[in-house]
Amino acid sequence: MLDIEAFRKAGYQAVDRICDYYYSLEKRPVASQVQPGYLREALPECAPNQGEDFQTIADDYQKLIIPGLTHWQHPSFFAFFPTASTFEGMIADLYASSTCNPGFNWASSPACTELEAVMMDWAAKMFGLHDHFLNSSGIGGGVIQTTASDSALVSVVAARSLYIRKHPDVKHEDLVFYTTTQTHSLGVKAGLVLGMECRALEVKVEDQFALRGSILKRALEEDKKHGKHPFMIIATVGTTSSGAVDRLSEIGEVVKDHPDVWIHVDAAWAGVTLACPEFRETAQLDNINRYADSFCTNFHKWGLVNFDCSTLWVKNRKYLTDALDITPEFLRTKHGDAGTVIDYRNWHLALGRRFRSLKVWFVLRSYGVEGFRNHIRQGIELSQYFASLIRASPSFELVTEPSFALSVFRVLPSGDSEGSQAVTLELVNELNRSFYSRLSARPDIMLTQTMINGVFCIRFAVGATRTKKEHIDKAWSIIQEEAVAAVQDWTP
Ligand SMILES: *Cc1c(COP(=O)(O)O)cnc(C)c1O
Repeated sequence: MLDIEAFRKAGYQAVDRICDYYYSLEKRPVASQVQPGYLREALPECAPNQGEDFQTIADDYQKLIIPGLTHWQHPSFFAFFPTASTFEGMIADLYASSTCNPGFNWASSPACTELEAVMMDWAAKMFGLHDHFLNSSGIGGGVIQTTASDSALVSVVAARSLYIRKHPDVKHEDLVFYTTTQTHSLGVKAGLVLGMECRALEVKVEDQFALRGSILKRALEEDKKHGKHPFMIIATVGTTSSGAVDRLSEIGEVVKDHPDVWIHVDAAWAGVTLACPEFRETAQLDNINRYADSFCTNFHKWGLVNFDCSTLWVKNRKYLTDALDITPEFLRTKHGDAGTVIDYRNWHLALGRRFRSLKVWFVLRSYGVEGFRNHIRQGIELSQYFASLIRASPSFELVTEPSFALSVFRVLPSGDSEGSQAVTLELVNELNRSFYSRLSARPDIMLTQTMINGVFCIRFAVGATRTKKEHIDKAWSIIQEEAVAAVQDWTP
């Protein structure tokens, strides 16, 4: 067991090793190369009876765990979406862990609640959110959730509870909420958890997969005619597959005729671009401010704060607490009873909560709003550079318009886009599958596949903090090399 002095030594060593890890990051394979079950083979079947020497444990982390990690911080990681990691965030996590407490109400550790309330206001102001979302407004407010899925689930719970209070006779099975076919699985997940219908509305390729007001209007009218009770729409700014942005202004206008419908805006990935004034129009800031009942973005994706840190704002905090407030006698406090403090346990699903606002505080102070903006701008610039390479090449095409820092592309069979008309979609998909499996076999890059309207394609997401132009150039040469080989092998 470590005592204080042994911890000091082990802690210094850990920091040294983390620094070495970051120095060596670029030389490592991006994706882990281990086979399933590798770790079970390497570990004993039971926990040791007698405690072991900590140095052996620390060395086993290097020897057994690191090879089984995929390096999301690698500058050639272009898969999924980025997951943030900064040294400021790490240090904050270490401090938070050192005083470990479950922070479920104000009295359980006043700093945890107060810092979170202020950080959510700092973030809201950095993103240009309307004053009604500020904790200082006393009406709306912001809270840190674990993930965007939790943020959405909590919002669905609040919306449902509000709807049921207004319409107490409505049967649970008649409730329905909407997403689109492009919405993240968080919608379906919330439907499964709550045992209610989540209807995914069809969106069209000619709308770049954005939800239009007319589609929502038709669904609302249809469902109401059939005795259903729509109570919510989850709209997305920056979908996972292709970065689509739902038309919030049209959605907002349609919902005016259905005032009981709650609008949740999921901007888990792209929401952090709101920090930059020049992206606010694309990211729909005005419409978020005008129409959203709740809004979520993840600092832990592209926003420099280490996982996890999903930020959720609501226009009216009462709708959260009306749905989720549980105050047994042992949780009652003088300040809580008086309503003078926030008790964040009533703003999320669990009781206990981590001290995550410390990470936000360290990061926003160390980078400053300008530093945060520069990070976002760099990702978008590099992404635009990548898209320009794809556009200029006759061997590739962009499948959808690039969105923020995401490009979705595929290789074309005959070296020109006309040629691709002659072969069937299925054959081109086959070519792209083999192209993608070549890319996946490479240790020096990582990308993800997706399927858009029957078209198999590849996503290229920029945003890891260490990615520079040279890594885009390197990625481009790998992509070209594997495309040539894939086309050569391919016999239509
Ligand atoms: C990543 C992502 C999510 C899910 O994020 P979690 O925080 O892991 O739940 C939801 N929506 C969008 C648009 C995303 O990009």
